Amino acid sequence: MPDRIVIDNCALATVDERDTEYARGHLVLAGDRIEAVGEGPAPRDLPDVVWRVDGTDHLATPGLVNTHHHFYQWLTRGLATDHNLFDWLVALYPTWSQIDEAMVYAAARGSLAMMARGGVTTAMDHHYVFPRGAGDLLAAEIRAAAETGVRFTAARGSMDLGTSQGGLPPDFAVEGTEEALTATEEAVDRYHDPSFGSMLHIAVAPCSPFSVSTELLRQGAELARRKGVRLHTHGSETVEEERYCHERHGMGPTDYFRTTGWLGEDVWMAHCVHMNDSDLAAFADSGTKVAHCPSSNARLAAGIARVPDMLAAGIDVGLGVDGTASNETGELHTELRNTLLVNRLGPHREKALTTRQALRLGTFGGARALGREREIGSLEVGKLADVVLWRLDGLGHSTIEDPVAALVLGPPAPVTLSLVGGRPVVEDGRLVTVEEEAVARGARHEARRLARIARG
Ligand code: ZN
Repeated sequence: MPDRIVIDNCALATVDERDTEYARGHLVLAGDRIEAVGEGPAPRDLPDVVWRVDGTDHLATPGLVNTHHHFYQWLTRGLATDHNLFDWLVALYPTWSQIDEAMVYAAARGSLAMMARGGVTTAMDHHYVFPRGAGDLLAAEIRAAAETGVRFTAARGSMDLGTSQGGLPPDFAVEGTEEALTATEEAVDRYHDPSFGSMLHIAVAPCSPFSVSTELLRQGAELARRKGVRLHTHGSETVEEERYCHERHGMGPTDYFRTTGWLGEDVWMAHCVHMNDSDLAAFADSGTKVAHCPSSNARLAAGIARVPDMLAAGIDVGLGVDGTASNETGELHTELRNTLLVNRLGPHREKALTTRQALRLGTFGGARALGREREIGSLEVGKLADVVLWRLDGLGHSTIEDPVAALVLGPPAPVTLSLVGGRPVVEDGRLVTVEEEAVARGARHEARRLARIARG
């Protein structure tokens, strides 16, 4: 029989279909699965219990699921702070094109540690900068994720449309089309594990309409479907992108994605800020999913995604940190709060999102986006034991009675325990898989090395 972990006396927000909550309940974890969840104490006579956790004054939720990130940007935070997306990209491409394997490893460790410490149990990375001779960048981030102990989707990105071809990135920052497709296919063959409870998925992820050729989008979609893996990209992020698509292709981003095979159940797209009603209908009809990144959208003045309208249309929406060069906090639990606040500044005002909906976006919505809703995203019997225990009796939260309101609206709640498949990643607010100070030192060393090289 598998070892059991019992968590008692905690509030529970299961994020199941009915948003079932328990004021003072229990969780029983057996091996890597959830065996029981309910009100009141766990049965006293369970065999093989190796760990009993007293969850008094805590809220248990499903582990948070991040759906959009760029780990390498951990080394270029706090730069180009007063720019819109295109200006920001143009300012940073030259530095990014100097990254190497040691830098990406250190940046991935930093990004992953920051997220894991804040309750993320499933991470993703969209990596699209592959300078020649830089080493095996994908392997570096996969190694970092395994060491941190979180589930991971590595989206093998690519750019093949340099400025000489009418794209935004400089020619020295892009790959050849065939080169990108071959490397992506190799990554899928080598790493993708589709099994239940997998720690590693690979997705096909050309970067964006203004940095990728139509051919790469088309062939990338074909590759993903031939291999049975998911598709990810950036879409409809800014008015500048919308204008670019109209000028170059004679249509908006969503129509362009439709013509290149990029709408479907197996696609999740970052941002989706500038969407009209027919774009939303196209997403809903095709089952295309959204990675909503409210802090990054605010930092780059991109706009407010129509999340309430997406949810009303039946579109699945998850949350994304986005790269830490456009969201320096690097934390997902702060996005629960920011999605609620940002969307209330839109036309739906106080009806835009509830605290429960915000929590759902960061958990089950993310699981849907990554195609893992049978495994993760809610606390239900048979699902993986990806659980976070948030401490709510401290200064920041002790006067908020409603635990979900405390988590979503209060300051970032300390994580007393975070489990991935029943294995601890955080205990008493500290990472147990990696040493936080060493990660911070390593990242600073590589950030300074990158800045020196970029200065020439
Ligand atoms: Zn992004």
